[in-house]
This record gives sequence, C-alpha cells and structure tokens, in this order.
Amino acid sequence: MKEIITAQRNFFNTHATKNIHFRRKQLKILQQALEKNESLLHEAIYKDFKKSEFDNYTTELSLLYKDIKEARSNTFKWARTKPVSTSILNFPASSYIIPEPLGVCLVIGAWNYPYQLSFAPVIAAITAGNTVILKPSELPSNTAAAMAKIVKENFDPAYFIVVEGGVEETQELLKQNFDKIFFTGSTKVGKIVYKAAAENLTPVTLELGGKSPAIVTESCNLKVSVKRLVWGKFLNAGQTCIAPDYVLVHKSIEQQFLQQAQKEIISQHFAFENDNYLQIINDDNFERLTKMLVPEKVYYGGQTHKETRYIQPTILQNVTMDDAVMQEEIFGPILPVITYETIEEAIVKVNSLPKPLSCYLFTKSSSIKKKVLKEISFGGGAINETVMHISNSNLPFGGVGHSGIGNYHGEAGFRAFTHYKSVMDKPTWLDPSIRYYPNTPFRLKLMRWFLKF
Ligand code: NAD
Repeated sequence: MKEIITAQRNFFNTHATKNIHFRRKQLKILQQALEKNESLLHEAIYKDFKKSEFDNYTTELSLLYKDIKEARSNTFKWARTKPVSTSILNFPASSYIIPEPLGVCLVIGAWNYPYQLSFAPVIAAITAGNTVILKPSELPSNTAAAMAKIVKENFDPAYFIVVEGGVEETQELLKQNFDKIFFTGSTKVGKIVYKAAAENLTPVTLELGGKSPAIVTESCNLKVSVKRLVWGKFLNAGQTCIAPDYVLVHKSIEQQFLQQAQKEIISQHFAFENDNYLQIINDDNFERLTKMLVPEKVYYGGQTHKETRYIQPTILQNVTMDDAVMQEEIFGPILPVITYETIEEAIVKVNSLPKPLSCYLFTKSSSIKKKVLKEISFGGGAINETVMHISNSNLPFGGVGHSGIGNYHGEAGFRAFTHYKSVMDKPTWLDPSIRYYPNTPFRLKLMRWFLKF
C-alpha cells in the first residue's frame, strides 16, 4: 500500500492533475468506461443482491452519468481563482482565493449502493484535481471486482486505483498518510476512521447513517404521502442510508395509515422473487433483521426466507421508543409505526435520538413545517417526499452529529476535495509606514481610523 501511495504522491507532485483539461479528460474516460461496461456492472450487482437492471440504472449509474456531466461542465468555473475585496489598510493590494487539490485521497465505500457510493466521491475528487485510491465495500464482492477491473483497464494506478479488501485491508490503508479521507458507512466504523485520520491530521468527510424519521401529520395528503413513504422505505429492500427508518403517525389517522401502507406495498409489487425487490446483503444482516420481527407487533409481512435472504416488507404497529427495533438503525425492510398526539411530542421523540441523516415531514400545514424545520436538526430531508432530495445536486448531501461530518454532490463535492488557498498580493511601489514601529500617538489615531474599514 505504501508503494501505491508513493506512486500517487509522485504523480500528484508532477502537477499534471492540476490541469483542468486533464481532469475533464479523466471524467470522460470514466464515463465511457462505465457506459461500455454497463452489462458487466448489471450482472455483478444482480449476483450480489439481486438488484435489477432498472434499479441499477435509476439508483446507481444514471446518478453517476449526471454527476460526470455536471462536473465536466463546471470544472473551469469551480476551479477558477476567485477575487475578493481588500481592506483600505492594505491598499494597494489584491486578494484572491485559489482552489487547490488536496493531493492523494482515500475513498472508502459502503455496500448498499456500491457503484454510486464508490464512484460519486471519486468523481468529485477527480474534478478537484486529486489522485484517488478507492476501497469499495467487500460485501458485494462481484461489484467490487467489477469496479477494480474497469478502473485497472482504464486508469494509470499512479492516478486512480481500486484496492479491494475488507476490514484488515481498510485498517492497513488507514495507517497510511493521506491528504483526504472520504468515508461512507456506519457511525461505528466512522469513529474508527476519524481516529485514524487524526494521527496525520487528515481532513475527513464522514457520510454515516442513523435513524431517519418520517412524521405523518393528520393534515397530509395520505394517499400520496404513503405512496412516497413506502417507495422510499422498501426501495433497495430498505437498505438505503436515507430511507425513512421509522414513522411517527398522528394517532387520529393510524388505522388509515396502516391500511394504506399495506395497500401500497402490494400495489408497488414489493414482494419475494419480484424484480422490484432485493435480497438482504448477507447472512449477518439477515439474522440481525429477523430478530426485529416480533410477531405480536407485525401488522403486515413478517415472512422470511433464509436460503434466499429475503425478508418480506414488514410493518410493525404499537411500537414504542423503547422497543429493540428503535435502538439501532434498521437498514432493512421493516417499518415501525409509532403514534403521537401533538407535534411537540413527535419532535421530542425524534430529538431523543442522535441527529439523523434525513428527516421527512408529510403535512399541508405551514406552521408545522416551520416548527419541524426549526426544532429538528438533521442532515437533509424533504417535505411531502422521501429520498428524492438526493437527486438534486444543488443540495449538499451529508449528515450532522452522529450522522456525519461534511457533505458532497455538485459543487459541495468539489469543495470536499479542495483546499481554498487565500492570497494577498501586494506591489512594492507604496509602503506606508503607519503600521511599522516605533508607534506614536499620531499613528495610533490614524490606525483607529483605518481599522474601521
Ligand atoms: P460499514 O461501516 O460496515 O462499512 C463501510 C466500509 O468500512 C467498508 O468499505 C468496510 O470494508 C469498512 N470497514 C468495516 N469495518 C471496518 C473496521 N472495523 N475498520 C476499518 N474499516 C472497516 O458500513 P456498511 O455496512 O457498508 O454500510 C451501512 C452503513 O452505512 C449504514 O449505517 C448506512 O446508514 C451508512 N450509509 C451512509 C451513507 C451516506 O451517504 N451517509 C450511504 C450509505 C450507507
């Protein structure tokens, strides 16, 4: 690993990556490589957890193509030196900010959207002019191998390389000195990464998880709300970092909500052996999730199939904040429904847990909307919608508190991999003596005046 990093550092030090044409060319190469290998990518992800071609295109590849397109159109703009004003004290001088790449970057991916979560940070790193070592998650082994193959065939390892491996390899990587670490994964491993980064004072972006709530008020459009909520929850079999983890429903509409949610699960064909519906990624996660299926709380679903790692989309009712399902991020197709009577009570419940990655509110009431947006802190979210805020690259994507540090997508991604170097540029033809010692009462008077501006 030392050799790879040294090779990348040597390449970075040639300053080749600072050339904007070079960056745009690499983005183009990545796009063409992905397009050319779409069937390999589809096959690999289907083998790993039965993700369909439709889902693979809509929730992974299309987002990467969009990111590349946006990055290529904006590289010059984002990387431009930006002039800023200068105070009169410094006359005559100009001041400007130079966005400069950080250097050799490590990107560690999670498994649940393996292509998107690996390549989207890479696109941002390349656009910002860095070299990249990508360590995808080892759990979907076929997708990790496909990414390694594609990158090896198209890029110089001194510029961009995929290092495959699990915990051991990641920990070995974390012992090395990087200029940036971008990690997507659990809060637990995020802490390990943060500690390792501290050794070298390496800047980090941590894209973590948590329990993202959905609040459904009595004034919402129930049919559309439940449709969007069910889609966001059971997409990818609930294995989505920004899926609504649990739902708080106003007591007065609990029964209507439950009936409508069941209807939606059926009509959106979230069912075993259906192309819309994925397997659980591995046996450990299957076991972990089945323990949450307490029979007396199951309103709908609850069936499992160990051999194929399928868990039926499940709604749990009469759930309380003390139940086991509320003690950890679910990350699977189980939707606990908790009721509340006042919006204040719902807010207290959400705020009793660490700050979530996402929050969703379904309401027609503008006062409730204002209150929730003011009183709940969360990474990002949506009103009367789930998940789709991720598709707007003008919205920086990331968590807060236990759900993450920093953000990316669009220009925010460029910023995550950039140092903004501040420069004051002064000519020497004028050098007023006012700030130089020895000081005098007159100079102090002048300084009092100048320092006002
Ligand atoms: P994870 O933390 O188990 O693994 C993430 C990466 O860390 C993998 O590449 C893995 O190899 C590595 N890793 C695992 N254990 C390690 C250890 N002990 N030391 C060093 N490296 C280690 O996460 P996961 O299971 O891949 O993903 C699920 C979690 O990720 C959920 O909490 C989910 O909410 C979160 N997530 C967040 C986002 C986001 O954008 N914020 C996106 C997807 C997933």
